[in-house]
Amino acid sequence: MNSIMQNLLKLQALDFGEAKAKNAEAQSAELRGQIPEPIIGHYERLRVRGKKGVAVVRNQVCTGCHMHVPIGQITVLMREEDVQLCENCGRYLYLPDPAEAEFLNKVEATKPVAKTPAKPRKRRALAHAA
Ligand SMILES: [Zn+2]
Repeated sequence: MNSIMQNLLKLQALDFGEAKAKNAEAQSAELRGQIPEPIIGHYERLRVRGKKGVAVVRNQVCTGCHMHVPIGQITVLMREEDVQLCENCGRYLYLPDPAEAEFLNKVEATKPVAKTPAKPRKRRALAHAA
């Protein structure tokens, strides 16, 4: 379930020009193909009115309308059992998993890339085989 919301969030970023991509149209078409029809339908109805269909949940609060999200809905989201709509603003709720939330925080503070491990010693292995 969470992967659907991830795709929807990516699509929304493309549709609202928040994510810049060279082939935004192709990407958006591909994402639309991966999202179940009833979900994309609801998303599109909101989008044509200039509304975003997906809101990230942060600290148990819907970032779309800043209303508290009931713990029951959070639990369903955590278990990835079903999609949930915000009771207040009607957006799909997306709960980033802890690893991803951490990753998103780290993105801003870019660290140097770790060096790759030592290369396999192909030459020696070949010599040994001969
Ligand atoms: Zn909301």
